[in-house]
Amino acid sequence: MNVYVSDFADGSRELADLLGGKGANLAEMTRLGLPVPPGFTVTTEACRAFLRTGAAPEGLDAEIGRHLTGLEVALGRRLGQTDDPLLLSVRSGARFSMPGMMDTILDIGLTDDTVAGLAKSTGRERFAWDSYRRLVQMYGSTVLGVPADAFEGVLHRVKTERAVTDDLGLDVRDLTAIVTEFKAVIRQATGSEFPQDPHEQLRRAVLAVFQSWNGERAKVYRRRERIPEDLGTAVNIQAMVYGNLGPDSGTGVAFTRDPATGRAGVYGDYLSDAQGEDVVAGIRNALPLQELEALDPTSYGRLRAHMALLERHYRDLCDVEFTIERGRLWILQTRVGKRTPEAAFRIAADLAEEGLITQAEALGRVSGPQLDQLLFPRFATDADDRPIAHGIAASPGAAVGAVVFDSAEAVRRAATGEAVVLVRSETNPDDLAGMIAARAVLTSRGGKTSHAAVVARGMGKVCVCGAEELDVDTENRRFTGPGGLVVAEGDVVSVDGTSGAVHLGAIPLRPSEVMTYFETGERTPGLVDAVARLMEQADGTRRLGVLANADTAEDAARARRFGAQGIGLCRTEHMFLGERRGLVEAMILARTDDERRSALDALLPLQRADFTALLAAMDGLPVTIRLLDPPLHEFLADGRELAVRIASARAAGQRPDPHDVRLLEAVDRMHEENPMLGLRGVRLGLAVPGLFAMQTRAIAEATAARLAAGGDPRAEIMVPLIGAVEELRLIRDEIEHVLADVSETCGMPITCPIGTMIELPRAALTADRVAEAADFFSFGTNDLTQTTWGLSRDDAEASFFPLYLDRGIFAVSPFTSIDREGVGRLIRLAVDDGRAARADLRIGVCGEHGGDPASIHFFDTVGVDYVSCSPFRVPAARLEAARAVARQRL
Ligand code: ADP
Ligand code: MG
Ligand code: MG
Repeated sequence: MNVYVSDFADGSRELADLLGGKGANLAEMTRLGLPVPPGFTVTTEACRAFLRTGAAPEGLDAEIGRHLTGLEVALGRRLGQTDDPLLLSVRSGARFSMPGMMDTILDIGLTDDTVAGLAKSTGRERFAWDSYRRLVQMYGSTVLGVPADAFEGVLHRVKTERAVTDDLGLDVRDLTAIVTEFKAVIRQATGSEFPQDPHEQLRRAVLAVFQSWNGERAKVYRRRERIPEDLGTAVNIQAMVYGNLGPDSGTGVAFTRDPATGRAGVYGDYLSDAQGEDVVAGIRNALPLQELEALDPTSYGRLRAHMALLERHYRDLCDVEFTIERGRLWILQTRVGKRTPEAAFRIAADLAEEGLITQAEALGRVSGPQLDQLLFPRFATDADDRPIAHGIAASPGAAVGAVVFDSAEAVRRAATGEAVVLVRSETNPDDLAGMIAARAVLTSRGGKTSHAAVVARGMGKVCVCGAEELDVDTENRRFTGPGGLVVAEGDVVSVDGTSGAVHLGAIPLRPSEVMTYFETGERTPGLVDAVARLMEQADGTRRLGVLANADTAEDAARARRFGAQGIGLCRTEHMFLGERRGLVEAMILARTDDERRSALDALLPLQRADFTALLAAMDGLPVTIRLLDPPLHEFLADGRELAVRIASARAAGQRPDPHDVRLLEAVDRMHEENPMLGLRGVRLGLAVPGLFAMQTRAIAEATAARLAAGGDPRAEIMVPLIGAVEELRLIRDEIEHVLADVSETCGMPITCPIGTMIELPRAALTADRVAEAADFFSFGTNDLTQTTWGLSRDDAEASFFPLYLDRGIFAVSPFTSIDREGVGRLIRLAVDDGRAARADLRIGVCGEHGGDPASIHFFDTVGVDYVSCSPFRVPAARLEAARAVARQRL
């Protein structure tokens, strides 16, 4: 039998799939003995049945009825009774938290009859009517689909008529009149009455929550966060408690640690005499939570004790939503809180130090992409420029962009590549697309827990909220700052989410302290120290080596500072560009062996100098040098340009430059329909006599020079694009010849491991044979992905990739994250067969996948020895390599 309803008292946090995150945590807190208003959860199973059939599953109504009766008996109040009625909240809550995505309805059970009973039982008529007003409004917009503006318009008009600025200024008469008008709005929009049967209210509210799973905003959020479409949401039905019963009541949000910086302490917002989402919506400006201590020390003390209990129990940063009803504290929600990357590192390191979590768990709580975010620059603080406004530093980082005033404009401009800052008085879920498009979000209202702050933090987007000095005029597309300063759409501002400052114009950025730490080793307390501790743990934990892709001594030195254990890929083609182009042209245009040899001879000392510098920068560590890979015509001038030059010379009656003519002939001769699969890699080495020999000689002589200088050079020679062991054998012979020759000339033995890239399916499929002639393998995952899929990356990304992503053929581009099923299978096979043929075969990955977290985890599992990625990705790769191991220890 299906279970569609579960009491809070019967659930637990393990049941989040069935009860949703909110329901599971309400159950967990109930079990812990925390003061949670009683209630029950309609399961995700019921929602899934609804989404499949479009109707509530059979038996659901009866089950809800039974649990409701239980609740009524326990509380001694019934839904719909005219004196002291039971009121309910109907709250959505899916498996993964989707802030603001789904709608919650409060005060279910109020009708024309029961509102009087509520007034009597609480002794507060105004409160009762204010609650009724909220219900009709929320129910009207979320369940009945009446545009929210219709209600806001009425509210705004009455407030203006009564010359009051916030809801608290409205009295019973105003509220009664507003309810009557709201009901008329509903009648007009839907043709029927606001339901006066509380059970009907409840039933329809539950279905509306189910339905909201497929709301547009919820879908956008799920796509962005990769939450599966078919999970469905649970619905929590809970007895109401009232934060709007006067000054000894209120509602708030609290964090066990600062979600922006990770610092320990009490953080949050509190709003007295308020209900529901008032704090989050930024309707009135909330007080910092610490001020509750003076207002209501007892509740404050209890709250802190509950929060300490929750943090110990969940062993992580928790956030809670709470309400105080006439001096009595109720906890309405908790969850493991979202946090900025900065806070994630700090909290993980601190909790590990406090002994609350293991080192493996600490590594599980941070990620490579988060570390990458910490490497971003911030604003130069010594800028003498004075801010035009100061708000709450809601989500750190620095961003510069043109001001826009709505989501659509943000999306439009961002699509053209413009950096924009979305400015709103406050945000709501309709602004989501604009927030995604913008570099930063700036609001004039709302606190650290406002919608803007919570959502921006979740996205790792810069956010300053509650900048009250700013008067945002969306209609006229401008905002006014202190002193009447007007900033119009398109003007550039700089937003500092770390300090809360907003500046006019573009402020220069300064590097992050974490970046400075990686560059210099300078360890400062706080964040940098937390990162350093976790990196030390990571290096002690990981099995995979992390090397860098670098072609210059400068990059090599940086990679080394970032912790790279060598160079896994040095591309030599860059050494053929710039001023050396002429020499390369000469080599290509050579008509005789002598001509070619002298061109190569001219290149030799230059290559030798390149390698000498590289080996010096990576002294003592492996430097894997790939012999020339790209087709030679890539080094020649563009054929079309040459043709135009020649034609216009002829048209002007002049003789075209003979060099141009020869070049064009060569370009035409070397033209390939499909260069990616043409004369490149090892094929070049075989087809252009002396080319690989020259490169090898440069490597060997550089090694000799470094040895003579007392260094410890560890060059390794890598042959690209082989498909058959025979290709490798031929090149290997040539390389060994040159090495022997140089050894003899310089009088010391020069040896280099000789290995190959595995980047063609045939090489992978014949890895056992290839291993006979290779000291090491290095997977070129970019080409291996191209050749396995049979597509060219640049062409595909520009044309049909968006379609493939959209249609779900790729969840993520196979060039971003390794395709485990296809390309991954070849890799696995080549690793196993290669090692079977040669047990000491070293195996690495040098495609950019080597820096991608999911791919790193895969490479760890299949037994690769190291990954190699660009220098800036090295820190994150070290961390992810450790997380791959730590995951198995959890
Ligand atoms: P969200 O998922 O957007 O956080 P919630 O279900 O938590 O939505 O509801 C929003 C707010 O409504 C809560 O923070 C709380 O203030 C209020 N609320 C929900 N249930 C109750 C209740 N039983 N009594 C009083 N207030 C409630
Ligand atoms: Mg909530
Ligand atoms: Mg390649």
